[in-house]
Amino acid sequence: MDTPKYKRVVLKLSGEALAGTDGFGINPGVVNSISAQVKEVVELGVEVAIVVGGGNIWRGKLGSEMGMDRAAADYMGMLATVMNSLSLQDSLENIGVATRVQTSIDMRQIAEPYIRRKAIRHLEKGRVVIFAGGTGNPYFSTDTTAALRAAEIEADVILMAKNNVDGVYNADPKLDANAVKYEELSYLDVIKEGLQVMDSTASSLSMDNDIPLIVFSFEEKDNNVKRVILGEKIGTTVRGK
Ligand code: UDP
Repeated sequence: MDTPKYKRVVLKLSGEALAGTDGFGINPGVVNSISAQVKEVVELGVEVAIVVGGGNIWRGKLGSEMGMDRAAADYMGMLATVMNSLSLQDSLENIGVATRVQTSIDMRQIAEPYIRRKAIRHLEKGRVVIFAGGTGNPYFSTDTTAALRAAEIEADVILMAKNNVDGVYNADPKLDANAVKYEELSYLDVIKEGLQVMDSTASSLSMDNDIPLIVFSFEEKDNNVKRVILGEKIGTTVRGK
């Protein structure tokens, strides 16, 4: 019998993860493969909360670079995360995984509002909770959302599943053949070295709350989400303290 190392996890998926090789929009095949991996770990009895990004549809920074008001552009980004969350919900429910989407900005016809205690109750009942809408505040990111929600629901770990890189490197492995992958780091290293793991707001929040992060690739053929949950050392671990 497989024994999970973690009881409650926050899985952070970037918007780009949902786009697959298309690079933009939502690729249903990719979404279904993510759902299949999530189902596997739910079946192990692990409580799974998911935070999805929106970069496959819109990024606030891009809008503000085009001359838009930054806050308005960021709200568009938050709406993009809701679209991604609904696609993930649909895909999970299609394979029999019970889910709830909770939004940080009220959209009662579409999803529940974010209520911490209710989210925890859903998790305890074995439902996957998808946190949509980011933190609900402009100038933040969905990485920060993952760090914040992980602290709020007292998750054991944040799992950052990537589709284009299998951990944290000292240089961009696509540009530098000598780039070396870290097995373990601290958040302080991430902040000091300016490593592209999560933004500094998210890193310092996770550091202050002592929540570890595992960065790994979620290629389906490797069953990596399950392997990480079972405690196998893959990717890069960023220690809480
Ligand atoms: N966003 C925001 N506040 C939040 C979370 C997200 O304003 O708390 C906006 C921001 O504009 C961001 C966009 O939503 O660019 C998409 O989120 P993110 O860039 O984190 O997505 P990812 O890179 O994970 O796909």
